[in-house]
Amino acid sequence: MSLKHRCIFCQIARNEAPADFLYRNDSLVVFKDIHPHAPVHLLIVPLKHIRSINDIDAADAAIVSEMILTGKRMAKSMGIAESGYKLLFNVERGGGQVIFHLHLHLIGGWK
Ligand code: AMP
Ligand code: ZN
Repeated sequence: MSLKHRCIFCQIARNEAPADFLYRNDSLVVFKDIHPHAPVHLLIVPLKHIRSINDIDAADAAIVSEMILTGKRMAKSMGIAESGYKLLFNVERGGGQVIFHLHLHLIGGWK
């Protein structure tokens, strides 16, 4: 079995594993983190399998900027833009990454 077939976020992106989706387009999906660290905790995940920020290059500039813009838009639609939020990439094991498919955390909603 290939790496991409075993990757849980590839499976979610292909609708082969369940997730609580909030948004989907041709290049990324947004779904709720299964173990939320805050009232709002979403994951913004490109369809393309990229291991981590260490593996992006100039050809990935469009998807990385789309992830950030999607984080901004989702924060607004979840009603937390004004109160504030975090957009976070964990990078490799020492940076707290446990799923090795690039994802951007959107975390907020504290009172
Ligand atoms: P990271 O530490 O940046 O790799 O974060 C991975 C995140 O994915 C964690 O916050 C997990 O709770 C979350 N997660 C793992 N598996 C799933 C899943 N099947 N559906 C939704 N979120 C998940
Ligand atoms: Zn993957």
